[in-house]
Amino acid sequence: MKEIYLTFDVEDFTDPKVNNKTLQFVVEELNKLELKGIFFITAMRAKNIDKKTAMLLKEHEIGYHSSSHSVRPIIFEFTDVEDYETAVEESLKRETHNVNIKTWKLSKNKGGIFEVMKIKEDVKSFRAPGYSWSPPHLEALKELGIEFDFSTKMQNKAFSFKKMTHFPFPVKKNALFYIQAFMSDPVVVDWHPESFVKKGWDSIFRFGNPQSIKKANLLDVQSINRNKNTFIGFIRKIRFMLDVGLLKHSGECKKAIRKISINEKKVEREYRRASFWPMKYFNYKAKYVEAHFKNYFGV
Ligand SMILES: [Zn+2]
Repeated sequence: MKEIYLTFDVEDFTDPKVNNKTLQFVVEELNKLELKGIFFITAMRAKNIDKKTAMLLKEHEIGYHSSSHSVRPIIFEFTDVEDYETAVEESLKRETHNVNIKTWKLSKNKGGIFEVMKIKEDVKSFRAPGYSWSPPHLEALKELGIEFDFSTKMQNKAFSFKKMTHFPFPVKKNALFYIQAFMSDPVVVDWHPESFVKKGWDSIFRFGNPQSIKKANLLDVQSINRNKNTFIGFIRKIRFMLDVGLLKHSGECKKAIRKISINEKKVEREYRRASFWPMKYFNYKAKYVEAHFKNYFGV
């Protein structure tokens, strides 16, 4: 029987009051059904998670979702340098410091992943914002203790490569769920709790870092209730599948033994997929990242 992982991206730092409340709702609903989530949190968001929310989150897995998500330069941009080692070094710097939200410059004090570790020391999993990962960046995260990656879409069975376990891409939550869940091992489901109550906060950054922080608009009450009820309905469905023995669930990441067979086509396809977000959002065409992908996978 295979495992199911319930994952959540936690990233909107512009409106802590509303977002903390939504996060509390999510954790409380999971707790009612004795389900464990993995919460991928950005450093900028970890800074404004309040005590009550942090206490609730502690009982679940905490993952890392990069220091600053959609703030530019994003991962794809700051690793787009010719020299691979320089890209690793830059990633290490970016993921151990915070970004100042007034100047958008890196602060001197320790932050990044250490900010998220303040909620729970044990941070071993990572998901790249927009699933837009880059090999030198992932290698830097390995040095910071990351062992499990949730960013790739190379195969629907978890695999181990260079001491990193890659989990499959999340399955759809619509009618395709059953087919995709059948094909995937383990099964990964993802949510953005902030989107239950708000319109895409990071669309503000699409045209570059803003002069001042604006909050995304709240949805109307009916939409919020509908989104919350859809979530509750879905996790109940999962609870049922666990109870009848169709899936199992611990919430704890396990190392994959399975390997991946690599070829150039597969790597090129993954590069194109990973570059989709920066291309679409920022019209950013990387110069060197494709070479980093090929270097990493040895093709
Ligand atoms: Zn995200």
